[in-house]
Amino acid sequence: MKISEILKNNKVTVSFEVFPPKQWDKIEWAKQTVREMSKSKPSFMSVTYGAAGTRSGFTQEIANEIKDSGITPLSHLTCITSTRNKIDEVVLELKKNGIENILALRGDIPEGFVFPDEQYFRYAYELINEIKALGDFCIGAACYPEVHPESKSKKEDIEHLKYKVECGAEFLTSQMFFDNDKFLEFKELCEIKDINVPIIAGIMPITNANQIKRSIELSNSSVPKKFFKIMERFGDDPKSMKQAGIVYATEQIIDLMANGVNNIHIYTMNKPEVAAHIMNGLSDIISNNE
Ligand code: FAD
Repeated sequence: MKISEILKNNKVTVSFEVFPPKQWDKIEWAKQTVREMSKSKPSFMSVTYGAAGTRSGFTQEIANEIKDSGITPLSHLTCITSTRNKIDEVVLELKKNGIENILALRGDIPEGFVFPDEQYFRYAYELINEIKALGDFCIGAACYPEVHPESKSKKEDIEHLKYKVECGAEFLTSQMFFDNDKFLEFKELCEIKDINVPIIAGIMPITNANQIKRSIELSNSSVPKKFFKIMERFGDDPKSMKQAGIVYATEQIIDLMANGVNNIHIYTMNKPEVAAHIMNGLSDIISNNE
């Protein structure tokens, strides 16, 4: 099924993200994780693409597993270090396997990377154009409520985002954020700029103290005082931190929904039990608003 179909009518949706393993000998474990996750019945499940375009076959394998588990798969694809030929090969393989949804991403620029020639795409919008030319896919793209770290200004970032939508992105998934006001302001700005596709809010449950530092570095997200207090109090106590992280994420989702945000994407970090806890905390809200 196409994700544009799932998102139409603005009903409540909760989707999950998983990542493939770094080594092939862990692929069965990753597939088992997908099967466990599917029991929570997410609206769809996305699978990330290795940094710098590595291990594309692993992403494909996990996307197939999601599909076989009865859940709509969304396969991420990055372009920054791949030739046009390599991109075409991956997209055609997805098509052959019946994967209908692709999240088109540029990928982070590796340190010291110099663009070899025009066989490489520089921005996600070029990848969107290429995917569109190769088949009838539903294409999504990334967005950044707190501005992409490379952007000179919010204005410039929004203009580039609008162009991705004009090129054919049918929905946007946000970078993680911990302060709902940042997302709600961003959503309002998108509306003012006539970016009218569904914007899915990306929520990362922080369930251990080490995760927070890395997540903030990667995402450029601001952290509200309330969350710092939780870290201060429970950061050294793994069980309490996990519980507090799950409750914080659940409350964040409920507050977003109360503010009219119906589409949520959970960065599960391949933890089925965390995803299941959050879904349990939302069970009536989901079943009454599907
Ligand atoms: P783009 O949309 O191309 O934007 C990148 C930068 O270029 C922005 O600053 C933008 O404002 C600017 N820009 C865009 N167009 C132009 C233009 N025409 N001229 C000048 N500047 C321009 N990474 C992975 O490696 N694998 C994954 O699976 C993955 N999944 C992700 C999922 C989500 C939901 C998100 C939010 C990010 C994900 N990332 C992933 C990280 C992502 O690849 C990086 O954030 C990357 O730096 C930017 O990707 P993009 O698609 O947003 O790029």
